Amino acid sequence: MSRATELGVRIRVLAVAALVMACPLSGITAGPSTIDTLLSESSAHLYSAPEKALAPLEKLRDLQSTFTPAQNEKYHLVLASSLGFRGQQAQRVALVQSFMGQVTTPGRRATFLYQLIDGHTALGQYEKALQTMNESIALLPVLEKPGDKIMVLQGAIATSIAFEDFATALDFAERIYALRTDKPGSYAACVGLSDKVELLIQRGASSQARALLQDAIDACMANNNQIFVLINQSNAAVDQINAGEAYAGIGNALPLFNVHAELNQGSDYVTQLEEAVARAYLQVGNLERAEHYGVLAYQRAQKSNILAMQEKTSQTMAAIKRAQGALASALVYYDSHLALKKRMLDDQLQKKLAYQRVRFDTQDKANQLALLEQKNKNLGVEKELQQGRYQNLILLMTLGLVVLAILGAWLLRTLQLKNSLRKAAQVDGLTQVFSRAHFIACTRLAFRDNRAALSLVLFDMDLFKTINDTYGHATGDWVLITVCDTVRQQLHKSALLGRLGGEEFAICLPQSTEQDACTLAERCRAAIAAIGAHPSGLNLEIRASFGVATRSIHGPTSFEETLAAADKALYVSKNEGRNRVTAYQHSGAHSQ
Ligand code: GH3
Ligand code: MG
Ligand code: MG
Repeated sequence: MSRATELGVRIRVLAVAALVMACPLSGITAGPSTIDTLLSESSAHLYSAPEKALAPLEKLRDLQSTFTPAQNEKYHLVLASSLGFRGQQAQRVALVQSFMGQVTTPGRRATFLYQLIDGHTALGQYEKALQTMNESIALLPVLEKPGDKIMVLQGAIATSIAFEDFATALDFAERIYALRTDKPGSYAACVGLSDKVELLIQRGASSQARALLQDAIDACMANNNQIFVLINQSNAAVDQINAGEAYAGIGNALPLFNVHAELNQGSDYVTQLEEAVARAYLQVGNLERAEHYGVLAYQRAQKSNILAMQEKTSQTMAAIKRAQGALASALVYYDSHLALKKRMLDDQLQKKLAYQRVRFDTQDKANQLALLEQKNKNLGVEKELQQGRYQNLILLMTLGLVVLAILGAWLLRTLQLKNSLRKAAQVDGLTQVFSRAHFIACTRLAFRDNRAALSLVLFDMDLFKTINDTYGHATGDWVLITVCDTVRQQLHKSALLGRLGGEEFAICLPQSTEQDACTLAERCRAAIAAIGAHPSGLNLEIRASFGVATRSIHGPTSFEETLAAADKALYVSKNEGRNRVTAYQHSGAHSQ
């Protein structure tokens, strides 16, 4: 699976990573050895011309037995990055996972975790990517160097963008900006502002982005950070072209290509810039120039493996070919544009579902950690005070800390309360499966994907009233809890289980054909029927009837229709003697 939406910010994370890697190795007293030279050589090439990193890496492989621990760490980091650039994501993830146990300093752990996040995202393992992001955010309070913190936050921004959560990404950018120092030329100010500009542009908030642009460029100039100045200028030119200011956009973009060739060769920003310039030339009717830049962008995108770029450049090429009257060629580009668009939409759906599952955890953790960080900051200030410089402020600070602690405790309690209320609304109190409303909301989301197969299974306990009447309500409750636990054990991670009411439940099965759903329903039916046979002391007859319906062209299509169909099938199961599975048929329903 290719990356779908990670664009520029990813390159920046790598820029930051390169910076971290470029730091001198600790504990080396003699002059730079061959190994160190080879390591610097490979990491310097990584993000500008990744092919060039291969030769020094190969030489290093043979020297591995003579590495110091620090060299070994750096070697693994560069190797992981390089595997990522070459698209060998599975090997990259495996490498980092096997080496992670040896990495002890939090700053280095953060760098390795970013490799994992990027690798998982590229492999479409979205839940793992998000969980790893959580793990890296959890390191923030123990990281001491601002550079390491920025690295983690940049990783979090790239991940949030990949999941199209721009609001969260902007929060992280704000936190980078908050790390700035008062001295001019602060790195955090440059990165934080540049991120904000790029995110605002991606979000379509062009006027807000423009208001910040000059500050961002000034901050990066003061930091003497040419790459970030260039990134800001590139973003600004693309934004101008998107806003219809074709001539001004072209005028600002053209000189940047040379600077990119010098500083930032092969970056996604070049592809974006070429694509925008092609569109601008198309807009002003210069078809020859439009084609020149369109083809460049198209070819670069093909190499980049980034789905969003491929989709965009093929769309632009289709428009250029159409304007040229080359209709057959236009059609070929248009077809590939549509196919890519479909793949992007599929990918986005998978991401949305994964994000929904992990997101609440992420938010709550992030909030609590922000609080911890603030506390750490205050403790740092307190230490300075103790050195005797501002004696009389100590009292005030203590007071501040007390207030902060009270506020913090209050905030935590509120967060916990909010969290428990939210959970309570989403989860059924007795059985711990999704509540009716939450189940319906999630299932509707799954129905938005019009292409994949999708099945609903309804089940209702048989003669449940008799169980209540014979053994009492408490036993009835125990049965419901046990039935849900039993069914849950049969389900794949992507399935949703909800209580529709009373003793009636529903399962949503994404990617499942009627055959799959019936097999699963039958397994659940048998597992439920086996519960009573457990040595529980009671000899209960626990049974349930099932109705299955699958979305199809000739049958039900919407969520409501599919639910109604499953209900009809359940009704047939009940009528035909209970304790069975019935699949809905367009002309009726049939028992298994
Ligand atoms: P059928 O096979 O036709 O579905 O028969 P049934 O007895 O299961 O159906 P009916 O709808 O007559 O009875 C359902 C019973 O489920 C009635 C109600 O008291 C009981 N019930 C609903 N919710 C709960 C609950 O949370 N706990 C317990 N113990 N019983 C519940
Ligand atoms: Mg019943
Ligand atoms: Mg019922």
